[in-house]
Amino acid sequence: MASEPIIFITGGASGIGLAIAQAVVAEGWRAIVADVDRQSLDQAGNLLAQHRALAHFTRLDVTDENAVRQLIAQCEEETGPVTGLVNSAGIGADVPCLETSTAQFRKIIDVNLIGSFVVARETACRMQQRRRGSIINIASVSGIRANSGRVAYGASKAGLLLATQVMAVELAPVGIRVNAIAPGPIETPLVRQMHSEQARARWTAAVPQKRYGSPAEVAAAAMFLLDDSRSGFVTGQTLCVDGGFTVAGVVEH
Ligand code: NAD
Repeated sequence: MASEPIIFITGGASGIGLAIAQAVVAEGWRAIVADVDRQSLDQAGNLLAQHRALAHFTRLDVTDENAVRQLIAQCEEETGPVTGLVNSAGIGADVPCLETSTAQFRKIIDVNLIGSFVVARETACRMQQRRRGSIINIASVSGIRANSGRVAYGASKAGLLLATQVMAVELAPVGIRVNAIAPGPIETPLVRQMHSEQARARWTAAVPQKRYGSPAEVAAAAMFLLDDSRSGFVTGQTLCVDGGFTVAGVVEH
């Protein structure tokens, strides 16, 4: 019999990552919540207190390659084989391209693209020995469409989508599926910081469903992609959870 799923979630202490951790433990699976922010980790720990046996919390900066390697080894030793990974750690900024500094561009690429790649590579190295694993990269509709102010953020997410496809193709023969979720605007702390009232009005107008999504709606998509019994033949895909944003042309409402 296959062992119980163990899902490693970066950026798992807030927003979308936290909603995925909640969905994972609600399913009776185990969640390893890794995040750079200690305060958010404490709050997430309180929120999931009733699931103490299933949820584990640990500090991790995804840009620290050695720390990533050590933590994954330690988790496997203490908790068991990681069967799923969700890369939700991410940062963003709304800055016009001509005002985007090189340092800011590098920082965003470092966390969103290189950080996600390093965690995926280190996890997949272990998953391949067991020929079982599902990896999800949380990208963004800003990696598919050109949204103003997103030159660095959009480039990081577009790169993540292509990295997802290459990893999916290379890792299919060893039983690892790699997919991406591209959320549209979702009500999270990151969005509360990034979206001004004006931006909020523009986003709502551009989404055919005329609203922001909830973290739980993204988590439902992640649970589908994590579950081999439901998505076993799905790999290399981008699932847009965006209220129709990426398919919209001229819309009359
Ligand atoms: P959030 O800020 O609520 O959560 C992100 C978490 O990542 C935070 O807890 C933060 O501490 C953590 N993090 C940041 N840098 C890290 C690092 N170096 N190492 C480890 N953890 C780190 O944001 P969110 O809205 O939940 O975003 C989650 C993911 O979804 C991000 O990748 C974001 O780009 C993506 N996304 C969000 C939206 C949205 O509308 N909220 C839309 C599209 C994509």
